Amino acid sequence: MPKLASLLESKLPANIVELLHAAGELAASGDAGTSEAYLVGGSVRDLVLGREPKDPDIVVTGNGPRFARALAEKIGGTVTSVSQFGTAIIDSPHGRVDVATARTETYSSPAALPDITPSTMDDDLQRRDFSVNAMAVSVLPGAWGDLLAPHRGFSDAARRRLRILHDASFQDDPTRILRAVRYEVRLGFSMAVDTAEALERDLPYLDRLSSARLLAELKKLLMEPKRADILRRAEALGIIGAISPALRVTESGLKAMEHFGTSAGEIDELLYVACLTSSLTGEEAEAVIARLQPDRDWQAVIRGAAAFRDVASLLESPDLLPSEIVELFARIPVPVIEFQRVAGPKTRQREHIEAFLRRHRDIRAETTGDELKAQGVPSGPVLGKLLLELKNARLDGRVSSREEELDLVRRRLPVLLGREANGGHAGGAGQGTRDQPAGAAVP
Ligand code: ATP
Repeated sequence: MPKLASLLESKLPANIVELLHAAGELAASGDAGTSEAYLVGGSVRDLVLGREPKDPDIVVTGNGPRFARALAEKIGGTVTSVSQFGTAIIDSPHGRVDVATARTETYSSPAALPDITPSTMDDDLQRRDFSVNAMAVSVLPGAWGDLLAPHRGFSDAARRRLRILHDASFQDDPTRILRAVRYEVRLGFSMAVDTAEALERDLPYLDRLSSARLLAELKKLLMEPKRADILRRAEALGIIGAISPALRVTESGLKAMEHFGTSAGEIDELLYVACLTSSLTGEEAEAVIARLQPDRDWQAVIRGAAAFRDVASLLESPDLLPSEIVELFARIPVPVIEFQRVAGPKTRQREHIEAFLRRHRDIRAETTGDELKAQGVPSGPVLGKLLLELKNARLDGRVSSREEELDLVRRRLPVLLGREANGGHAGGAGQGTRDQPAGAAVP
């Protein structure tokens, strides 16, 4: 087996090399209940491929959390979390490291979470998703850099081939279907023929995945720099439709993703959700939400495409006031509007969107609700209406100073209070009436 000693020293940051030496020495001493410690998974794959490895994962035989506590003490770090699966995280001056117990995984039924038993290093590699991820490098002083790759991961890496370790791999864990396209595109790999056939055959198993696991995997996909290519590939393989028949990727959605991906600054995940779901109807949006059960922000964005379509034709009017534009956009999440700025037609709609994003959405009245209350305006619908009128007046340039705002309040308050009284909403505590306008003491 090849030795990766020099790669370890040259490709990993010096602080991580030190940390791995410390882990190897601790294991060799036998003081932490194990005699084997390996660097495993993605960082070994990346080392072999000459890519920048990310945070290291260490696997030890025996008891990972016990080893993690001893290692944390040795390197001046702290164990920040321990899981029921025998894993632990160390935060240290050398960086963050994950420590796991070598284990076997068995699946009681397809797509279920695995049952776990502490085991040998070979078993631990056997449970992994693809051969290139099933490699380990010893960090023991006497075996520093020895590669363990019993599933031909080393030659698969050389041939840039993605291969599952056994025929039922995608059935056991259908998240691997999404992982497969993620790695193919990120690493510039191709699936082995058998793997591609198994993936196509096992697409229906995606239905068995819990919403939480599916969503987590989709989020990882959206955070990949080459997300658009991954989604193109996923669509071509039938994966998108297998996630939900209501979901589909469109070329304009993917183009917008590429646009946002290359623009500077930190990009919000929701922007990519808006791109991915930009063609959904209201009904399709509900189907996708039912399948993924995402949080409220995701839900609003997924529903946003249909909501935008409802107002799109109104946005073509030439004489919209800024306050009317703001009102039209009130129920549409900003990521959906951002998407339309990039992908929508270059008509008047685009001008209104630009104006909204650049100026209107940040405009507020100077006078706050608290100030109005302090001046005697009763809490409730009147206060809300007054604040909205102030904001709209600001937006449309009818007021431009605090004094002008207060002047507007003076003129509008009696009218609004009167309307309240006549509208049948008055009479609540502190609401005031036409006869007794709540003691409003606006100067
Ligand atoms: P990435 O660079 O995307 O983080 P990674 O390989 O480090 O890649 P993780 O999701 O952090 O990926 O997983 C770490 C390792 O755990 C993988 O390299 C793989 O060996 C194994 N693994 C992760 N998820 C699965 C899975 N669903 N089935 C089998 N093995 C998995």
